[in-house]
Amino acid sequence: MCIFCKIISGEIPSAKVYEDDFCVAFMDIGPVNKGHVLVVPKKHAETFVDLSEEEAGELFKRVNRIAKAVKKALDADGLNIINNVGAASGQEVFHVHVHIIPRFENDGMKFGWRKLQYVGDEIKEYAETIKSAIEG
Ligand code: AMP
Ligand code: ZN
Repeated sequence: MCIFCKIISGEIPSAKVYEDDFCVAFMDIGPVNKGHVLVVPKKHAETFVDLSEEEAGELFKRVNRIAKAVKKALDADGLNIINNVGAASGQEVFHVHVHIIPRFENDGMKFGWRKLQYVGDEIKEYAETIKSAIEG
């Protein structure tokens, strides 16, 4: 059983902030800022792209609700709402979870975005490739 399944079953303790039939939300033990919450579907799936569109929708309904609570409760200036898909993206726990990270002006946290540049028609080619892969 994965570590988040163990949290869901109660085998491992967690500081829960929300629970319903579909999901649970609890405090991340290694927070980017204090108040960092994880929203986790109860049914085990490795990554976000393993969820159906319906499940993803249900998950983000809860993320929206809990994000509002985190922002209000901590009087945060902003939030990062993040989901990592796969080891290449930094995913370490292979049970879907969405991070809700409270952010404060000058909190000293910087995500390492870089900004590459497309050459010629590359941007259109990437758009076409992705467009033709969208199902439904
Ligand atoms: P990710 O890199 O997106 O897979 O994030 C995994 C997150 O799970 C990290 O931020 C960890 O701090 C957090 N985490 C790992 N184990 C636990 C645990 N037992 N309780 C709460 N959070 C955890
Ligand atoms: Zn699991």
